[in-house]
Amino acid sequence: MLDTGYIQDKIRQFAQEREWEKFHTPKNIAMALTVEAAELMEQFQWLDSEEAKNVMQTPKGEAVRQEVADVAVYLLRLCDLLQIDLQSAIEHKMKLNAEKYPVELSRGHARKYDEL
Ligand SMILES: [Mg+2]
Repeated sequence: MLDTGYIQDKIRQFAQEREWEKFHTPKNIAMALTVEAAELMEQFQWLDSEEAKNVMQTPKGEAVRQEVADVAVYLLRLCDLLQIDLQSAIEHKMKLNAEKYPVELSRGHARKYDEL
């Protein structure tokens, strides 16, 4: 299980040691999160579906692993700054998603909730 509190402490300490707290505003971290998500997406650019499924067994696998970590670091940093409990936020959103996408209307296709 991911110990988000431990990781958030480490990220906070990393920023403090470098006097980067002044840069770690919620806006800047949200932007950095998006940049890192794009870097993750870049690793899949031009791969076909089969290549993408097997990416971790290729030289790109390590880059994917690192970009996933970058995304997680900024997401956890944003939650820390905004005092969002990530686990309860996820549980709440999954409950909303389940209501939005009832199994009987959503099974087996990828239509958006307003097209069910
Ligand atoms: Mg990166």
